[in-house]
Amino acid sequence: MGLADQIQEISIQEGITYFGVGDLSKVKEAILNQWGLNIKNFPFAISLGISLNNYIVNQLPQRSEPSVAISYKHHAYDVVNQRLDLAASVISDFIQQQGYTVLPIPASKQVDEDRMLGAFSHKMSAGLAGLGWIGKSSLLITPEHGPRVRWATILTDAPLKPTEELMQNRCGDCTACVEICPVKAITGKPFVEDEPREIRFDAKKCEEYLEKMKSERQLDVCGMCLYVCPHGRQ
Ligand code: SF4
Ligand code: SF4
Repeated sequence: MGLADQIQEISIQEGITYFGVGDLSKVKEAILNQWGLNIKNFPFAISLGISLNNYIVNQLPQRSEPSVAISYKHHAYDVVNQRLDLAASVISDFIQQQGYTVLPIPASKQVDEDRMLGAFSHKMSAGLAGLGWIGKSSLLITPEHGPRVRWATILTDAPLKPTEELMQNRCGDCTACVEICPVKAITGKPFVEDEPREIRFDAKKCEEYLEKMKSERQLDVCGMCLYVCPHGRQ
């Protein structure tokens, strides 16, 4: 069995729903500019995705009820992110034992609060791995589960075969996420590579909405853009 197959088998054992390998050379300038990372040490990104519990996501319109908000925050966020980090750790150990360099990126940690960026873009990696497209909501949309997936990334120099075919954007005329957002944080502009995220998505508005909930002693749960996407709702 080849290295890629062995890694994929471990990922299945770890409960991973989505697995793919992206070629970072396609976006090396963007990676250097946004995260200051020179990809010569890490030419490939392994994407790991876990799909969310549909019953929990489908209850999000009732998120003002504490039991609904707690359920989402715990089982559709905290626990899934821990499972992703654990899987990324196990897989990274395995790759390192084979003699390669690996850097697992935490599933959900912001390192640049001003720009609200994580240590690396999981969505970009998953898109490069051909697992979905960046929707108008700025979420990664998969054909089967829509945006109802959380992601982690492992950067590596292991000789893996990256996906060559990227997935076409299938948002079309849909504007469901634009209309449902309570603070109009989504502009409705389709994703265009190299355009700054601010053109599509006002992250500050979204963040402030969640902060307001916290200040009112509510759980900071929204996710309506994730709930409403027709991809994944069927
Ligand atoms: S999480 Fe809520 S506030 Fe933030 S963009 Fe989505 S719908 Fe808007
Ligand atoms: S709700 Fe519609 S426009 Fe928004 S990401 Fe999903 S398919 Fe695209």
